[in-house]
Amino acid sequence: MKREPHVPTLFKHYLNGGWETSATVGLSENPSDLDEPVGEYVRADARQTDSAIEAASAAFREGSQFNVARRAEALDAIGSEILARKTELGRLLAREEGKALPEAIAEAARAGQIFRFFAGEALRIPGEHRSSVRSNIDIDITREPVGVIGVVTPWNFPLAIPAWKIAPALAYGNCVVFKPAELVPGCAWALADIISRSGLPAGAFNLVLGSGRQAGARIVGSPLVQAVSFTGSVATGSGVLQAAVSRQAKVQLEMGGKNPLVVLNDADLNTAVDAAINGAYFSTGQRCTASSRLIVEAGIYERFVEAMMARLASLTVDHALKKGVDIGPVVDERQLKQNLDYIAIGRKEGAELLCGGRGLERATRGHFMEPALFAGAPDMRIAREEIFGPVAVVMPADDYAHALHLANDTPFGLCAGICTQSLKHARHFKRHSQTGMVMVNLPTAGVDFHVPFGGTKASSYGAREQGAYAADFYTTIKTAYVAS
Ligand code: NAD
Repeated sequence: MKREPHVPTLFKHYLNGGWETSATVGLSENPSDLDEPVGEYVRADARQTDSAIEAASAAFREGSQFNVARRAEALDAIGSEILARKTELGRLLAREEGKALPEAIAEAARAGQIFRFFAGEALRIPGEHRSSVRSNIDIDITREPVGVIGVVTPWNFPLAIPAWKIAPALAYGNCVVFKPAELVPGCAWALADIISRSGLPAGAFNLVLGSGRQAGARIVGSPLVQAVSFTGSVATGSGVLQAAVSRQAKVQLEMGGKNPLVVLNDADLNTAVDAAINGAYFSTGQRCTASSRLIVEAGIYERFVEAMMARLASLTVDHALKKGVDIGPVVDERQLKQNLDYIAIGRKEGAELLCGGRGLERATRGHFMEPALFAGAPDMRIAREEIFGPVAVVMPADDYAHALHLANDTPFGLCAGICTQSLKHARHFKRHSQTGMVMVNLPTAGVDFHVPFGGTKASSYGAREQGAYAADFYTTIKTAYVAS
């Protein structure tokens, strides 16, 4: 195993202010080079998971997170260190998850910015004062911390997603038990390592590495965990929802997407192709906000498809750390098989594979795949189910109304985009898209760190994440009546 400076060969749990090992270990692979794994990681048993939950609960009871200045300073220190080390963290992320290095560095920077944003929010926790309808009584409405927050995250944004849950949880005075996806323990360790030096009291933040079914489910089911913030697949999310709701815990879910990008006849062709290539294929299509359905008005359809194929042919797929690489590997063997299975499904249901869709061999042994573009129909499985790989389906639309109908004809509702020069259509689309986020002349993927993120329908459940709106999930409201 090749060691990178600052990265240990064994990633450990961070429990109650100390690092702990377990009897069981797993291997964190490098999807660009299976002969050069990132490291080993420990896998928590039930006892260790419980001890992390108990540490967070005790820290919360003792008021460890009471002082806002201390919280703000800690979050600022975390964010500043992440930003100062974004290249090194980006390298680790690119090796472990497979995102091309510039994208990985940008994700690390975003994680740093999120912590710095919430350092400010910790000092701006809103409250209200009202006069009572009765004499000599004042009313104060305050936002209080919820308690222990269980943070359960996927592998595809291994620094940014944990950051956008952990930072607000801590900013609003909660304590955290964090369980990352098993494919990315190195990134989780790196975050915990930085948090461990931030001056937060022991138990305020805990990292538990290990399986979702064991450690994850134990956190979601624990009566000591007052709220669960989950991002991942629809299937896992629905189980998390049942388990959390059955014990009346607060819960927030961000799940899959099948995001449409509409291209109207009057669109600027370059803008539309840039948006589609970036949205559908960058980060290997492994984004919940990926533009996987390209809905193109008839008058521009041929020109759009031709330009897409030319651009796809110019993209470089290779090792995530190689200079000039546009698309890194697929995250693991299981996901690569799923992508290739969907290529076969698309062909079987009569879609035309316009280009790509094969596994690739490169100088290193990795999970490489050609980005694929299908011409298909809206009722096909490849146009309805989340593939989570570099696969998009282009579909013609008769006119704007038809395009809007197709865009909304999905169980998901995370993000939708439109490329047009018509203000009338852009405004109408913004209003009538059944999604939590709308993009005009932009890819569906790629969002700011200081504003809300989330969707509708099967994509999301509960309060929005990020920005000042995160307070809705990470606080509970108290109304106090005070008479003199
Ligand atoms: P996943 O559902 O397999 O796993 C997500 C997390 O849940 C992991 O940490 C996993 O260990 C844990 N887990 C698994 N079983 C569990 C259980 N029974 N109880 C508690 N936790 C459990 O998802 P994934 O494969 O890591 O990520 C890919 C999915 O994430 C895609 O569907 C993608 O769309 C979605 N995603 C959504 C968003 C969004 O914000 N909408 C963002 C990124 C990814």
